[in-house]
Amino acid sequence: MTHNQPEHLNPLDSMKERFSNAANILGLDQMTYDMLINPQKVVIVSLPVILDDGKLKVFEGIRVVHSASMGPSKGGIRYSMNVTLDEVKALAAWMTWKCAVVGIPYGGAKGGIKCDPRNMSAGELERLTRTYTAAMQDVFGPDKDIPAPDMGTNQQTMAWIMDEFSKIKGISSPAVVTGKPLVLGGSLGRVEATGRGVMVSTRGAMAKLKMDPQNCTCAVQGFGNVGSISAKLLATQGLKIVAISDVTGGYYKKDGINVEEAIAYVNKNNGTLEDFNADRITNDELLTLDVDVLVPAAMEDQITDDNAHAIRAKLIVEGANGPIASNADKILHTNKVNIVPDILANAGGVSVSYFEWVQNRLGYYWTEERVNRRADRVMKQAFDNVYNASQKYEVSMRTAAYIVAIDKVASTQKLRGVF
Ligand code: GLU
Repeated sequence: MTHNQPEHLNPLDSMKERFSNAANILGLDQMTYDMLINPQKVVIVSLPVILDDGKLKVFEGIRVVHSASMGPSKGGIRYSMNVTLDEVKALAAWMTWKCAVVGIPYGGAKGGIKCDPRNMSAGELERLTRTYTAAMQDVFGPDKDIPAPDMGTNQQTMAWIMDEFSKIKGISSPAVVTGKPLVLGGSLGRVEATGRGVMVSTRGAMAKLKMDPQNCTCAVQGFGNVGSISAKLLATQGLKIVAISDVTGGYYKKDGINVEEAIAYVNKNNGTLEDFNADRITNDELLTLDVDVLVPAAMEDQITDDNAHAIRAKLIVEGANGPIASNADKILHTNKVNIVPDILANAGGVSVSYFEWVQNRLGYYWTEERVNRRADRVMKQAFDNVYNASQKYEVSMRTAAYIVAIDKVASTQKLRGVF
């Protein structure tokens, strides 16, 4: 396992530091500050599951609703051994800021179960997911809180949630969850949506920086849904993808990796890049390669004050949530590394989740072309808003994204009042 999270770092600290920084610039009043820095709701449940060997194991299931001020809360469910309450709190808050940055009518939430999905059978995963859904039946709801896939979960997980929730409530309720398989009310374009948004925001940043995609190299850390599709779509834009990686390590080819080939390889190879034909490098070496564009799309806290000084990319586009710890911000800023922050760069996924939810509620389904056209428009508009805010306040794109988001959520909060 090479995508390890440094133990001394806590993504919640990074979220809070950046929030405070932007809140100070905005002159946010103390009351709103206190309301927005803390989650509105934290639910922790025990999930007894019979494993295939007949033994019972009790898992801990978490759902954090950071804010429901802008609408029902929205955010994925993560199955990973690294899940902690603080991580889920940070990820939930990032969902609030993300939805506000792209202007979709949702608050933010996140769920997590500490488990190792790669070493669980389909039956065990199904029982775990159904037990979690039953335990969260009063938390979830199409007008309350709407889960989606995240690390370690996928379309099948969403299908189980939709089915379990629908059975419990006695109604067909596709809009309770997004990222579903197409036949169950999923949206065309949802699987590729996050990677597509990464591509659109990378293009936006490259245009501002006058970088020609045809002459640029790129390294992508992580080869799950976000990393693999970002790499594939960036390659179609002319960037040369020289390095990719997953839990088995990094793979480098000076003349460029054929990403489609790598994806086909992973699909045939038990889901990993193990033994893929390329020069072997470590994940840390990948991050510090001499490339033009770096896309960390694995997990939190991969770039920290330990390795930030060694980063050579001109542009970092955050495919993952929180891949740069806040203790690296100053170093990267001093070294003039441009960053498209997570809450903007990877917001394409939740944007198309919103389109999926709209289609479910209308019972009317869009073409892939319509989904992509609208998602691209949302991402371009959000990019411009954040870029303009960064010019206006003379701050980084990251601080600008927080400013745009906090400003929106705070004004909604004020209108709704406190009781
Ligand atoms: N898990 C994704 C994210 O972090 C998608 C969330 C969603 O579609 O609700 O943005």
